Amino acid sequence: MSRLQPVIVVIEDDPPIRRFLRTGLTTQGFTVYEAANGKQGIIEAGNRKPDLIILDLGLPDRDGVEVIKAIRAWSAMPIIILSARSNEDNKIKGLDAGADDYLTKPFGFGELLARIRVALRHANRSAAKDSGEIFNCGNLTLDFQQRTVSVDGKNVHLTPIQYRLLITLVKNAGKVLTHQQILKEVWGPSYQENDHYLRIYMSQLRHKLETDPAQPKFLLTELGVGYRFNDSI
Ligand code: CA
Repeated sequence: MSRLQPVIVVIEDDPPIRRFLRTGLTTQGFTVYEAANGKQGIIEAGNRKPDLIILDLGLPDRDGVEVIKAIRAWSAMPIIILSARSNEDNKIKGLDAGADDYLTKPFGFGELLARIRVALRHANRSAAKDSGEIFNCGNLTLDFQQRTVSVDGKNVHLTPIQYRLLITLVKNAGKVLTHQQILKEVWGPSYQENDHYLRIYMSQLRHKLETDPAQPKFLLTELGVGYRFNDSI
């Protein structure tokens, strides 16, 4: 079977939202398969081997977070969460369980499309980033082998923690990382309650890398959730 069109599985119990997604995404050239509950969603994810999953967190038969865990047991395919405002805690649980991004309902279709493109690009490029080459984005250059960072061609000195924080975000470029995920990755599992470390180091990193640290273009804040490295520059 030809896979020229990216395949998306939509897991959502609300028929009008499913219809809205199917119509919009099909028009944009995606092939869409639908599931109305978590169980069916996990089956579709396995059968269709989609390029991306759009997942509602409030499903009738099980928590969307459980669906993410089930899929993550065998696949790293991008997952974008749709969450109702009443489900904000679950959104963070979903990201911690390995979802790539989230949208809060009601959302605009343009916003969703932008997130899908970022997630698909991220999925295609993450392999290259792991292989230890040079990462370029705007005026920022990162040499994974030399462990050097430069802005506008000028070397920037980072402390080991600042460097680890930066590569954690860059290796997940485009993806939202929760405070917990970053703390665990950079400082280790025993530091997961220390949100203020993260705030301090993020501020230091912005001052070293961003042209305007108050309006960062690389190191974006996801309010109440975490951070995201923006490589769409
Ligand atoms: Ca729902």
